[in-house]
Amino acid sequence: MSTTPYYIGRLAPSPTGALHLGNVRTFMIAYLRARSQGGKLIMRMEDLDHPRDMPGAAAAAIEDLRWLSFDWDEEYTQSERLPSYKAALDTLVAKGLAYPCICSRKDVENAQSAPHSGEQLFYPGTCRGKFASWEDAERAIAPRLPCWRFATPHNDAKVTFNDAFAGTFSSDVASTLGDFPIARHPSGAGYTLAVVVDDAAMGVTEVVRGDDLLAATPAQILLFRALGLKIPQFCHVPLVIGKDGRRLAKRHGDTRISSFRASGVKPEEIIGYLAASCGWAKPGEKISLPHLIPRFDLSTIPRAPLVWP
Ligand code: GLU
Repeated sequence: MSTTPYYIGRLAPSPTGALHLGNVRTFMIAYLRARSQGGKLIMRMEDLDHPRDMPGAAAAAIEDLRWLSFDWDEEYTQSERLPSYKAALDTLVAKGLAYPCICSRKDVENAQSAPHSGEQLFYPGTCRGKFASWEDAERAIAPRLPCWRFATPHNDAKVTFNDAFAGTFSSDVASTLGDFPIARHPSGAGYTLAVVVDDAAMGVTEVVRGDDLLAATPAQILLFRALGLKIPQFCHVPLVIGKDGRRLAKRHGDTRISSFRASGVKPEEIIGYLAASCGWAKPGEKISLPHLIPRFDLSTIPRAPLVWP
């Protein structure tokens, strides 16, 4: 009998700051979704965001997660996997599906033909076919660095997928994002390419993450397709937001796990609060993460974001 688990999930923190309530709610859902099915869980530290990565944040996040009783079966660090991203980039370049771009954010904004929502801007492909190599592009804008863009096929970029939480989601990447950026490093090491390469390489069967990445998912699906990789299922869950409607951040007060811990709050109180917000515990109930495994139910999570406090 095969011992390969049929469900492989992942926790993918970025060490750009301290772990807070918002991250933990999403990780709790991802963890329980995997464990309640007897699935495997991967911890992947996404440390490719160099200007924003904070020294010590990766180790601190792991410590906070362990304190909250999270466990995982395998651990990876993206900065140790650069050759995999380079190989994927080389494949895309060889197929004419990736090219270096020297446009600044302002250039991209000026080229915008229609307003597009979200953080990602529509890019019409101004630099497509302009540079023979990254080095050529680099010379053209030194000391700034180019970025790698995906050459989105104009007639073959419609993506529809059935998100386990958000339902059916469709987008034509050619008209919403255009030639989206895949990395800002010569070797192809950047979030968008790396997340696709890694989810496939690690055999992830379902990606559970915050729904701020829902709109970025069709672009990732195009990359899976272009690289001939197996596309996982997706499950995008609502975020924790502040009263101002914005994603939980420093301005909403100190919600760092390390601060709760320092002030004597117990893991069971934090997990209990977050579990109650998902319908798995009574308000005020204290419960540990392992005790929640049998209570997990995706369908009781409210559709609306959780508002803190
Ligand atoms: N590392 C990303 C973040 O913390 C999440 C990426 C993902 O789940 O695909 O924002």
